[in-house]
Amino acid sequence: MYDTIIIGAGPAGMTAALYAARSNLKVAMLEQGAPGGQMNNTSDIENYPGYELISGPELSMKMYEPLEKMGVENLYGIVTGIEDKGDYKVVKTDDESYETKTVIIATGAKHRPVGVAGEEEYTGRGVSYCAVCDGAFFRGQDLLVVGGGDSAVKEGLFLTRFANSVTIVHRRDQLRAQEVLQDRAFANEKVNFIWDSVVKEIKGNDVKVTSVDIENVKTGQVTNHEFGGVFIFVGLDPVSDFVKDLGITDEAGWIITDEQMVTSIPGIFAIGDVRQKKLRQVATAVGDGAIAAMQAYQYVTELG
Ligand code: NAP
Repeated sequence: MYDTIIIGAGPAGMTAALYAARSNLKVAMLEQGAPGGQMNNTSDIENYPGYELISGPELSMKMYEPLEKMGVENLYGIVTGIEDKGDYKVVKTDDESYETKTVIIATGAKHRPVGVAGEEEYTGRGVSYCAVCDGAFFRGQDLLVVGGGDSAVKEGLFLTRFANSVTIVHRRDQLRAQEVLQDRAFANEKVNFIWDSVVKEIKGNDVKVTSVDIENVKTGQVTNHEFGGVFIFVGLDPVSDFVKDLGITDEAGWIITDEQMVTSIPGIFAIGDVRQKKLRQVATAVGDGAIAAMQAYQYVTELG
């Protein structure tokens, strides 16, 4: 029986593990991939206190390395469900079941597909959702970035290190991204914009993407543009399917908590991007993690 199982090893989960271990709880962190979560798909992090600039994968390792020494157990598997048994919970994966007094859900969010013809077919062959993973494969090419938020602009700027040009296509005539990122994008000679427009179809040959049909939403005009790659950043969806029967999410699947990270089920907490919240950042994720671990500690202590 664990005191707490933390599902997900992004910045929220790793911080919860740190605080739980320092409170002498018997803690396991359950993850299906490498520690770091979305930080592993992030080129440069420039707004995490203490670092002027650090790559996402490097910050991931810096958060992860101390945890093993502190006795945090690592479990691997894909979570399929949580059963609430009152004083304890059962966390189920594809091939195991674990008993624990509390669960801290830190599964984060995953990229949302834009849902156009050719997107699925060419994923991995010119369509990508991760500039830091795939950018270097597109050296010297003309790339299309879809979206107008922080991710589209930030990762678009990162792609200029490799690409000949980066064109950002956005469905409105104004970006959603932070001003500082917008200023950099407007000042970068390699970055172009196509406003008020959406991708209609991603086209290619047997091997890879070659062009994209883009529709102007104001005029309805569709034009074809040659691109060697398409990077899609149109937002995030929560990773919460495995709790859909527990009734702790909103309609879109984000988990509802109070400010103490407590869900409507005693002993189940949620933190980081999977939580219904306004600001999804590494800095807010780590804060959530610290709060939830201390709440879990109090809950376990009260259980006796
Ligand atoms: P986001 O902020 O939700 O932005 C999604 C963008 O995609 C918006 O511009 C949206 O257009 C557009 N979009 C959505 N659906 C679309 C569709 N079907 N077709 C075309 N365009 C579509 O998502 P994000 O940029 O991935 O960021 C997610 C969260 O992480 C945000 O809270 C963000 O602040 C945070 N983040 C922070 C940083 C940082 O450096 N601090 C970096 C990356 C991400 P509209 O603008 O018209 O809605």
